Amino acid sequence: METKKNNNASLKEIAELLLAAESVLIFPHLQMDGDALGSSAALCRGLRNLGKKADILIEDKIPDNIKFLDRGYCIREFHQEEVDVCIAVDCSDWMRIENRYTFFQRGRRSVMIDHHVTAQPFADFNYVDTEASSTGEIIFFLLKEMGQAIDADMGEALYTAIVTDTGRFMYSNTSGATHLTVAELYNTGMDHNRAAIEIYQKKRVEKVKLEIAVLSTMEMIHNGRGCIAVMTRQMLADTGAWQEETEGIVEELRNIDCVEISALLREEEDRIKVTMRSKTEADVSKIAGSFGGGGHKRAAGCTLSGSIDEAKQIIIRAVNQHLNDLEGQ
Ligand code: 5GP
Ligand code: MN
Repeated sequence: METKKNNNASLKEIAELLLAAESVLIFPHLQMDGDALGSSAALCRGLRNLGKKADILIEDKIPDNIKFLDRGYCIREFHQEEVDVCIAVDCSDWMRIENRYTFFQRGRRSVMIDHHVTAQPFADFNYVDTEASSTGEIIFFLLKEMGQAIDADMGEALYTAIVTDTGRFMYSNTSGATHLTVAELYNTGMDHNRAAIEIYQKKRVEKVKLEIAVLSTMEMIHNGRGCIAVMTRQMLADTGAWQEETEGIVEELRNIDCVEISALLREEEDRIKVTMRSKTEADVSKIAGSFGGGGHKRAAGCTLSGSIDEAKQIIIRAVNQHLNDLEGQ
């Protein structure tokens, strides 16, 4: 079916599309985080409550600390030839869906909901709100638009999406509107403290050992305004930690006094994953964007090929350049 691409779809249009659908497949981004899975879980539950066939299609591991969100929503295989609506959440470009993109295209209609400044619309109906703290905050309004009462499970999933993407309400993307949304989530009867314990207070000892190994590679650059560290595959073997257990380290590097940009390089099977953070005026989405990645001003990422040492030199040069440009302004 030929559909005209709508880059400015409203939540009302998307709600109508979903209400008219019988089957919906939800796509969080690869290496899903609290926002991607929390948004997907709340939406999936809302759709199932309405009697729809709804599932979340994933291809990689669910990080341990957000596994509690999957109450039988996630599937890894999809056999239907067609599905009414495929909806990507928290994915700024189609590459974030990675190998599932062929399934995404099987949707009679496709939708994208996102909040990244670097978003590149790739669906039939695209809704991007860069003012929203998280995709979870958008899904909250989408569920309302669909006339769905938000229950405790959805509340907990949306709370997780928002609390993780705002750095526990500390980052600059947090607004009064964010707090008003969360205040409404409290009325669902959700247990925010239970969610917080699941997300933040169940660290494995192996993760802490990995943090020690990664932090010991820390290097200060640009007179202490930049900070970079690496995680090698050997470290995973040595500590017994998992790939995704580097989560939180790049923020720890940014916490250092005077650091404006922090970067963490992760050696994966056949590529180097770069994750960056900035504290005030630097825009790491520009650095990530110059390597084909993206994200937000203060949190962004990209993928490089080659060795970890080569990638490190490339990122050090780019960080130095960005800080030089800022200082020259
Ligand atoms: P993280 O560093 O926590 O993985 O990601 C920080 C932010 O950058 C997130 O909003 C994430 O969506 C975005 N991001 C991370 N890696 C990539 C990437 O390879 N491509 C794009 N477009 N965005 C990324
Ligand atoms: Mn997000």
